[in-house]
Amino acid sequence: MPLRAKVASSVSRTAAALSRAAGRGDGSVIGGWLGLKIDPELLAHLSAGRAIALISGTNGKTTTTRLAAAAVGVLGRVATNSFGANMPTGHTSALAKAGSTPYAVLEVDEHYLAQVIEATDPHVVALLNLSRDQLDRAKEVAMMAQLWRAALARHPDIRVVANADDPMVVWAATPPASHDQRITPPHVTWFSAGQRWHDDSWVCPECGSTIQRSGEQWWCTGCPLRRPEPQWTVDEEGVVDPTGAWYKVKLQLPGKVNIGNAATALAVAAEFGVRPFDAVPRLGDVTSVAGRYAQVVRDGRTVRLLLAKNPASWLEAFDMADEAPTLLSINARDPDGLDTSWLFDVDFAPLRGRLVLITGDRAYDLAVRLEVNDVPFQYVRTFDEAVRAVPPGRLEVIANYTAFQDIRAELDRVN
Ligand SMILES: [Zn+2]
Repeated sequence: MPLRAKVASSVSRTAAALSRAAGRGDGSVIGGWLGLKIDPELLAHLSAGRAIALISGTNGKTTTTRLAAAAVGVLGRVATNSFGANMPTGHTSALAKAGSTPYAVLEVDEHYLAQVIEATDPHVVALLNLSRDQLDRAKEVAMMAQLWRAALARHPDIRVVANADDPMVVWAATPPASHDQRITPPHVTWFSAGQRWHDDSWVCPECGSTIQRSGEQWWCTGCPLRRPEPQWTVDEEGVVDPTGAWYKVKLQLPGKVNIGNAATALAVAAEFGVRPFDAVPRLGDVTSVAGRYAQVVRDGRTVRLLLAKNPASWLEAFDMADEAPTLLSINARDPDGLDTSWLFDVDFAPLRGRLVLITGDRAYDLAVRLEVNDVPFQYVRTFDEAVRAVPPGRLEVIANYTAFQDIRAELDRVN
C-alpha cells in the first residue's frame, strides 16, 4: 500500500480500538471515517489483492454475510463486517482491522452498492431482494433496482448471484441489452430463496405492465421479463446445488428464510471454488447474528429475539416465530425511520390465536393497526413486564431496529 494509505489504515484501527475501549460501540464508523479523511482512496487500497464478495438487499444481508463468510472460510481467512456497519466507513474499518486476508465478504447497504463496487472491484456480488423500507428516506424500489442495474452494467466481469424469485432483482441483475430472459447472461447464477412479500413487484420495471404469478413462477404480461430457471434451490431441510446434488442443511437459525440465506451463501462461496460439501458443516456453527435469533432464558421463559424492520421482514418473522406468546415492539427513532405508516402494509392476521403483547415508543401505532386487523393484544410498559405477563415457556420477541437494541441491552447485550 502507498504510505498515505498505511498511515490512514493505522489511524483507522487505532481510532476504532480507542472507541471500543471507551465503551462507545464497535468503533467501526469512526475508525473508517477518520481513515477515509486521511486517504479518500483507502477502501480501494485495502481491497486490492483480496478476492471480495459483496452482499446487498433490503432484508437478510447481515445473516447471509455471516453465513457466506463462514462458507468462504473453508479457503482461508476472511475479512468481514458482519458484526459492524454496512456503509463504506464500516467496510474500510473492517478491512483495516482484519489486516491482510485473501478473502473478504462484505454486507453493503443497498444505497451504497454502486459506490462500493467501484471502490472494491469485487469478484462476486449477491443480490437478495428489494422491498419498501424506511418510507421517509429510502429510495423507491424501482429506482434502487435501476441504480443496481447501471452499476453492474459498468462492470460486466463481476459474477452475480441473484434471487430468481424477486422480479426487481432479476431485472437489476440482467444487463440492459439482454433482458430477454431466454438468454441468461453467463455471469449470473440464479438462486431461488422464495419471496413472501409481493407488494413491491406487481409492476414490471422494464415496461410497466402487470407481473403475474402462478406457484413459484412469475412473468411480465407485456415483455419477455420472467422468472429465470434457478441453479440453486431450497426445500424445508436442505439446498440443491447446480449439479442437482441435495445437501441437508442443519442450521441453528430458524425458518425457511434462513435455509434460503444458506443457499445464497453457498452459491457465493461456490464462486470462489468452495464445494457445498465442505461449507455446509460450517453454516451449522452460526448461532446468532449480532443478537438476531438469540435465545435467552429469563425467569423460566425462553426468550427469542427476531429483528424485523420493514413489511417484508415482518412477514418473514411471523413465519419464523413459533406459535407462542409474542411481544411486538416498535420505535420510530432515527435508525428506524420516522414514518410508521408501513405497519398498515403488514397483515398481522397470522398472530390471531396467540397471546400478543405490545410495547415500545410507538406501541399505540401498533395498537391501532392490530385493532383494525382484528388481533387481540395487551399493552405492557417494559420488556420485564412482558416477561412476567406470559406463562413459563417460550416468548417470541419481534422488534424493529432500536426497539430490538433496547431489549438486547436489557438482556445484557446477548450475542
Ligand atoms: Zn415487462
